[in-house]
Amino acid sequence: MKAIRGAITVENDCAEEIKSAVKELLEEILKKNSLITEQIVCILFSSTNDLHSFYPAKAAREAGFFLVPLYSSIEPHIDGSLTKCIRVMLLAETDFLPKHVYLKGASALRKDITNVINIAIDGPAGSGKSTVAKIIAQKLNILCLDTGATYRACALACLRAKVDVNNSKAVSSLMDKIQIEVSYENGVQKTYLNGEEVSSAIRQNEISMLASTVSAHECVRSKMVKLQRKTAATTSCILDGRDIGTNVLPEAKFKFFLTARPDIRAQRRYSELTAKGQKVSYEELKKEIIKRDEQDKSRQIAPLKQAEDAILIDSSDMTIEEVVQFVLNSVQEKI
Ligand code: C5P
Repeated sequence: MKAIRGAITVENDCAEEIKSAVKELLEEILKKNSLITEQIVCILFSSTNDLHSFYPAKAAREAGFFLVPLYSSIEPHIDGSLTKCIRVMLLAETDFLPKHVYLKGASALRKDITNVINIAIDGPAGSGKSTVAKIIAQKLNILCLDTGATYRACALACLRAKVDVNNSKAVSSLMDKIQIEVSYENGVQKTYLNGEEVSSAIRQNEISMLASTVSAHECVRSKMVKLQRKTAATTSCILDGRDIGTNVLPEAKFKFFLTARPDIRAQRRYSELTAKGQKVSYEELKKEIIKRDEQDKSRQIAPLKQAEDAILIDSSDMTIEEVVQFVLNSVQEKI
């Protein structure tokens, strides 16, 4: 069960305004937290003592919350505090991280708990980051930003334009001309290159090594990091990559570094690619993964590295479910 906080102000002490404010506040809480009425355990309201026209609990009943236990109380007057304010505490059966909702004049209240949450998961290729990140995003009802996809799109752009990924001048000039974007459909990330969806095209194995090489250039990293930070600044999300905890979001509250032995990582990549019908050799993949890690670790700008304050998880002998549970427990503990 989770407790979700919220508040809203009204301009006038009149029944119609109180009714519409309560409806707006509750609907926004349900929407933001992907809740249905049946998940609500109870709703407790308090209102400032300058509101006399209508009980918020009665307004909630009229807004359609018929079977939910509701309760209203009046707050004492506190000098200097918000006036004409309705506060709410809603208890609900959910595993999601609560998203608290403060509207109108109340939007400045509780900045501490309405801030976005960012979870950084870094680690080498094939460590299971993106699988784990996707499951956690779904469980917590937050976005999952696969930052590797953005570098892969840069690599695809080079491949299509026949630009040598080692030639920083040529890459830089191409980067000025291309547009890379991500958007979400039912929580699933779609990656676009110049408006074309390339989510599948960037998963070809030949793109992996090209992405590693192209991502070492400053012109590429600065453009991609800007895109990643923009998403993370306004949206609660889990980002998987190589430099999220060290460079993209050094202030992230939750940081993990996920790794596994190279043979295990190669085996996972092999199963993933062959399941998609790609013809690859396990031995080749293992060599490639080791080479890619070396390249990612040794580049000058934002190399693959565990942030000092990141929690290390070696998933070699763990199931995906165990890793997910470990991350979820660590996040819940710190909230
Ligand atoms: O994670 P994925 O295998 O899709 O990443 C492809 C490449 O993109 C990595 O090998 C790495 O060089 C680069 N990358 C990066 N920084 C990130 C994410 C990926 O440099 N945050």
